[in-house]
Amino acid sequence: MWGVKIYTNKKSVLLISMPFAGTAIPAIQLPLLSCYLKKRNCNIKTSHLYLKAAEIYGLNNYNFLIYNPNESYTAQMVFSKYVFPEHWKNNKKKFENYFNKHIAKDGILSSSFSFDEYIKKTGVFYNWVIKNIDWKSYGLIGFTLNYGQFLPSLAIAKKIKELYPEKKIVLGGSRTICELGINTLKAFDYIDFIVSGDGEEALYRLASDFNNYRSIPNLIYRDGRHVVWNRSNVLIDLNKIQILDFNEFYTDLEKAGSDVKEYFILFGRLPVEISRGCWWNKCTFCSQKAIYKKYREKRVEKIVKEIKYLSDKYNILSFQLIGNTLPKKDYRILLNKLREIGKDFSFFVETRAGVLKCEDYTNLKDAGFNEIQIGVETFSPNYLKKINKGVFVIDNIAALKFCKENKIKVNYNIITNYPNEEQIDFKETMENIDIISKYLYPPHISCLAVEFGSDIFNNFQNYNIEFLDYTDIDKIMFPKEFLDKNISYIFNFKRKEKMRENDWEDLIDKWNREYYKSEINGIKRDTELDRFVFYYLDGKNYLKIYDKRNPENIKIYVLDELERRIFLFCKNVEKFYDIKLKFRDFDEKKLKIILNNFERKNIMLREEDRYLSLPLCYEKIK
Ligand code: SF4
Repeated sequence: MWGVKIYTNKKSVLLISMPFAGTAIPAIQLPLLSCYLKKRNCNIKTSHLYLKAAEIYGLNNYNFLIYNPNESYTAQMVFSKYVFPEHWKNNKKKFENYFNKHIAKDGILSSSFSFDEYIKKTGVFYNWVIKNIDWKSYGLIGFTLNYGQFLPSLAIAKKIKELYPEKKIVLGGSRTICELGINTLKAFDYIDFIVSGDGEEALYRLASDFNNYRSIPNLIYRDGRHVVWNRSNVLIDLNKIQILDFNEFYTDLEKAGSDVKEYFILFGRLPVEISRGCWWNKCTFCSQKAIYKKYREKRVEKIVKEIKYLSDKYNILSFQLIGNTLPKKDYRILLNKLREIGKDFSFFVETRAGVLKCEDYTNLKDAGFNEIQIGVETFSPNYLKKINKGVFVIDNIAALKFCKENKIKVNYNIITNYPNEEQIDFKETMENIDIISKYLYPPHISCLAVEFGSDIFNNFQNYNIEFLDYTDIDKIMFPKEFLDKNISYIFNFKRKEKMRENDWEDLIDKWNREYYKSEINGIKRDTELDRFVFYYLDGKNYLKIYDKRNPENIKIYVLDELERRIFLFCKNVEKFYDIKLKFRDFDEKKLKIILNNFERKNIMLREEDRYLSLPLCYEKIK
């Protein structure tokens, strides 16, 4: 037949997602790749082995290992036993000390989940996987990796190769991108291939035209003593990807035991990919640009169609939109279309401050976005510039205010331990926190580790770093000779110039204490108005602001008609130029006096020439 290539050297594929992936959401890479290959008549099966691991460890233990304050990166450490048995034998005490000191530090699980139990359950899982999967049926075995799945995947890959040397093993995902993939292939001879970048076409070609693997784009392979990376700019068009099929996930979930199943029914959500990459792509600490060179997004109509279809097919209302931000241009259309479907959806999405306005957050909530993650990172203007986030602190505070007003749960971090962190960063953060801590959600602390592929990694000398060093956990999990092959994804660093340490923990602990004390006091109050800390009521030709941030000194301000209009105009972040334009009938000096007066009373925040009203709208929060 003209124009259609018939492949004769096909391989059947098994695609695996190992622990320590999260149990509340299917690993999206499996259905993405599987649907792409099935549509092209490949024989592929997926296996969500992290669900089996959750059953074997016990769901509580598994979640304890991977969720805050712990994380999947450290959770993988015991799999070192199978990847580096000699290293494990010689360093077991170090693993145990790390587990007791950093993972089970508060003793919550120590009685039911000791270090020995952790090793035992890992062994049960490992043996179960080796014995219960019909490895003989597959020619190509793939592992999709995020950074907490590296050692578990290597452990199983190593054993498969030992038992079935003819099987071809391929890795793909953020943990093995670019040079990391090359180095991984050099370090582990039982891995045959690595895919760096979009994996769909590479895996399809590997499965269907194996003999010609040297011509496959995005593939890293061995050629004699060399390792070759077929770099490619070919990108998948997200709008051509078919709607994903989660049948195999649900089959694996069904087999994973009642706890894991019930947990998913209660808290689970399906992933819907909306974009790859990041349109901003300039934050200095972020490795996105190494993972995806170019930003692409799916059309809104397709996103909506997929959500509707999946919701009907799997009787599910909770979804996570997979992308680094909401769609850049058409997010308003997306929110309207989702709302129009009329289902009681619950969405989770990551977004950034400085884009969405006050009304957008109301639309977000109306569409079903009950929880979002915002890339806030800091409340210091100086720090934000260093990070190159491209927003102002006032945008961050506005985003938190809008979430609070619209009852959207917000997750966000502030970054600490930046290599050139200065006193002023801490001081500015402290001052801004003082204004908002009684009534806006507190953050988590994210202690910076340098990520492979980030600007800090690539140009560390420019960031007050003398040299990059292996992290403590990597030094425990990996033998030094392997770390020296440059397979690390995160790094510690030694500063060129020492900095004075800032007590971020104490600052955020205090915020947590104050915020939740205000919340608890609010719950105990009899009258509705007493429940709120900092808010305004609109009298239409005047406006009353109640400021109870300092309970010892409660203040009530009454704004006159013009003040009210200016105050309400600044419910979004507004530049002085736009304020002047809006109130062009009034003298500029008079406007300045009013704004200065607001600023002095701490009911309005100013950053450079931008203004934001701070109290919450009672009409929304009541
Ligand atoms: S941190 Fe977020 S906004 Fe910044 S470059 Fe990375 S993905 Fe983009």
